[in-house]
Amino acid sequence: MSLEGVYDDGNIFAKIIRGEAPSVKVYEDGDVLAFMDVFPQARGHLLVISKTDKARNLLEADPAALAKVVAITQKLTRAVTAALKPDGVIVSQFNGAPAGQTVYHLHFHIIPRWEGTPLGRHAEGMADVEELTALAAQISAKLDA
Ligand code: AMP
Repeated sequence: MSLEGVYDDGNIFAKIIRGEAPSVKVYEDGDVLAFMDVFPQARGHLLVISKTDKARNLLEADPAALAKVVAITQKLTRAVTAALKPDGVIVSQFNGAPAGQTVYHLHFHIIPRWEGTPLGRHAEGMADVEELTALAAQISAKLDA
């Protein structure tokens, strides 16, 4: 799928927002949802999305909705680093298949990095849900800390 296209209400993140597909949630308010990536590239890899904005990518995003997602992305990045103490953290976002996008609902990745631990392959290798649930609890516990 290219940069141009129509938002598909059947995409997996739209299903997660509607509660039609499972997710391990880390944060939720009226506008923004964050959940663990099920094919994590590192321990603590999570995703942040708008619940209201039907934007496939950054180019289509409503600026007000984007501002809310970015503010929560910062909050969660702080929580992830406080909880898991990584040596670094990637915050990334892909637009269009050639750029690496596989799900066409705008999302931000938060990926902790540890020195000497290589980054896992993108969207490969499913995580154990119990482990994700424990990580989500560790991270969300630091949200108000
Ligand atoms: P991107 O390639 O930037 O579009 O990222 C999509 C991300 O969504 C990948 O990192 C996938 O591992 C992740 N992903 C796909 N399906 C699910 C799902 N059902 N729950 C959580 N993460 C998912």
